[in-house]
Amino acid sequence: MDKKLYLIGNFKMNMNMASIKPYLEDLKKVADNTNNAVGICVPYVYLPYVSETLKDSKALYGVQNMHFKDSGAYTGEVSADMLLDFATKLVVIGHSERREYYNETDEAVNLKVKKCLEKGLTPIVCFGEKLEEREAGTYKELIERQVSAALEGIEEESIKDIIFAYEPVWAIGTGKTATSDEAEDAIYYAKSIISAKYGKQIKSIMLYGGSLKPSNANELLSKPSIDGGLIGGACLKMEDFESIIAN
Ligand code: PEP
Repeated sequence: MDKKLYLIGNFKMNMNMASIKPYLEDLKKVADNTNNAVGICVPYVYLPYVSETLKDSKALYGVQNMHFKDSGAYTGEVSADMLLDFATKLVVIGHSERREYYNETDEAVNLKVKKCLEKGLTPIVCFGEKLEEREAGTYKELIERQVSAALEGIEEESIKDIIFAYEPVWAIGTGKTATSDEAEDAIYYAKSIISAKYGKQIKSIMLYGGSLKPSNANELLSKPSIDGGLIGGACLKMEDFESIIAN
C-alpha cells in the first residue's frame, strides 16, 4: 500500500505505568520506522511521562477529551492550555462513548473542535451511527447531522487541520467490524458532505474505527476514501498494533 496512513491508538481507560513503559519503547521503534503517521491517545495522567518519552520520536500523542473553556470552575476537566504544557498534538473529540455516557452533545463537540483549532491542537472528530440507525437505514442522516454540526462556523482553511473518524457505534469494541464496502461508502459520503459545504477541491482526512485489527486492517485501509484507522482494543497489544502499522 503506498498511501500514507494515520494509525492512531485510543487507549480508553486502559494500561498502567508498568505496561506503558515497555509499550512506549516499542512504539518509538515502530513509529520511527514507518512512513505512516502513528500516534496514541492516552489517559491524562500519563501525559507527562508520554510527552517526555516520545519527545524525540516521530510518534504522535494526545488525549481522549478536552474542555472547550480556557479555565474556570469546571471540576475534573482539562483545558487546551494544560494539554499544550505537555506539547500535546491530538485530541479525540466526540467519541461515541463520551456522547453516550457523558452526554456530549453536537454543540459541545463543535465548541471543542473550535478550541482545538484556535490553540493549534489537532482534533480527531468522531462520528457514526448506532445499530438502530444502521438497521433503519437512517444512518446517512445521522452522519450528515454529526459532521455538519461539528463543522458549524469553521472556515475552509481549517479543514486540513482536522482528522475525522467514522466509527459506527455497533462496531466499537464489539468485535463486529463494518465491511470494507460499508466503511468506504460511509466515509465517501461524509467526505462528500464536506465537499458540498466547502467546495469540490477540499480534501479531508478520514479514518475508520471499530474493531480494526490485524486480520481486517489491510482490506479496510486499502479502500480509496479511508485515510487510516482509529484503533481501540487492538492498539493495546503492541504486537497487534505493530502488525496493523507494518502492513
Ligand atoms: C475506539 O475506541 O475508537 C475504537 C475504535 O475501539 P475498538 O477498536 O476497540 O472497536
